[in-house]
Amino acid sequence: MDRDRLANAYARELETFAVAHPRSQAAYASATHLFGQVPMTWMNKLATGFPLYLDRAQGHTVHCIDGHEYLDLALGDTGAMAGHSPEPTVRAVRRRLEELGGITTMMPTEDAEWVGAELTRRFGAARWSFSLTATDANRWAIRLVRALTGRPKILVNPYCYHGTVDESLIVVDSDGHGIDRPGNVGAPVDVTLTSRAAEFNDLAMLERELAHGDVAAVLMEPALTNIGIVLPEPGYLEGVRELTRAYGTLLINDETHTFSAGPGGATAAWGLEPDVVVVGKAIGGGIPSGAYGLSEDLAARALARTDLDLVDMGGVGGTLAGNPLSVAAMRATLGEVLTDEAFAGMTARAERFAAGVDAVITRHDLPWSVSRLGARAEYRFARPAPRNGTESAAAADGPLEDYLHVFLVNRGIMLTPFHNMALMSPTTTDEDVDRHTAVFEEAVASVL
Ligand code: PMP
Repeated sequence: MDRDRLANAYARELETFAVAHPRSQAAYASATHLFGQVPMTWMNKLATGFPLYLDRAQGHTVHCIDGHEYLDLALGDTGAMAGHSPEPTVRAVRRRLEELGGITTMMPTEDAEWVGAELTRRFGAARWSFSLTATDANRWAIRLVRALTGRPKILVNPYCYHGTVDESLIVVDSDGHGIDRPGNVGAPVDVTLTSRAAEFNDLAMLERELAHGDVAAVLMEPALTNIGIVLPEPGYLEGVRELTRAYGTLLINDETHTFSAGPGGATAAWGLEPDVVVVGKAIGGGIPSGAYGLSEDLAARALARTDLDLVDMGGVGGTLAGNPLSVAAMRATLGEVLTDEAFAGMTARAERFAAGVDAVITRHDLPWSVSRLGARAEYRFARPAPRNGTESAAAADGPLEDYLHVFLVNRGIMLTPFHNMALMSPTTTDEDVDRHTAVFEEAVASVL
């Protein structure tokens, strides 16, 4: 690839983007009361120079305030996997807001038990508790596994993402030893006091770390999804379960993104047997929602511990967690939108997406690959596909990624920032997928 040509093409696309979005540009320029000029600092992840401001969104379509329409393959980085404002979720939320009232009350609603039962049907875990974010679900799960095992450390895979969870911000140096993830803002303590790390797909490294006997739990995604999609090799996840059992370590599956694998995430799709399941983002159709599920045995052990304050100040809980609005949204979204049937269609679209991208990669003989996990697919600038997070991080190509993102946006297609990820909603069509394939090919051809 000719890098000068890429830089020139990127400059041209940025210019096109700026000309087409004067209102977004002006809104960003005048946002002086926001830290970093954005509602949340990560919104400064900008291939386009300034952010697109949202006007409205429905299904898998969004409109920006300059009046342009986009095919949304980002879907709020999974928060909107059910599509934007799906009718059943909106209906249930409206009912709670307008007819029944009670957005947050400190009182349970009957919807919660329905959601718990549905999550058990899907993911297997027997006892559920709610949060408003996957980050908090992970934090509370971590506190419980520490309390139950009496061990201090959590083991994660380098370049995982589990939210802003202190324990997870660890990578490994070239000798395979844990170190702070570069850029970590204000780490409370040296991360090696709280955490260990072992590369995804590396059972020998996992055993080496577990053998210290101080790991309360392995917290992992069954496939890495936040550094491209890194799929497990045959036997790896079974090995993780065997080793964790052998060393008295619990296993937490964070299914927040791998939920794309099917109605019960990778846990059900691949017959996994975690002790704890965490899920968030999509289950409320975009209304803040998260949950963690414990095995029956773990739940009983926790409840039997009179020294653990699970009710008041013990460190697991949030005032708004499990509020009536959030739980109504989860019930409607799981019951009527992200159904087993919906997943079948979403997965078929993602298969088509991956096949289309793969054909372009092959036709142009690019050293790239595409990986798919149920309803989500992602291309990566490496072939064969990276086997672990560190390899995948090394395959990043910022300038190329930025170029593809702005090229696609200028032609009405949004990929997920931070990724080359495309997620299918229940309403995404084959035609949408084919439109992406055609524009992707055009983008590739433009810089070869
Ligand atoms: N777990 C995983 C696997 C995630 O990908 C993310 C966010 N990308 C989170 C947890 C945290 O989700 P949230 O920011 O909504 O708390």
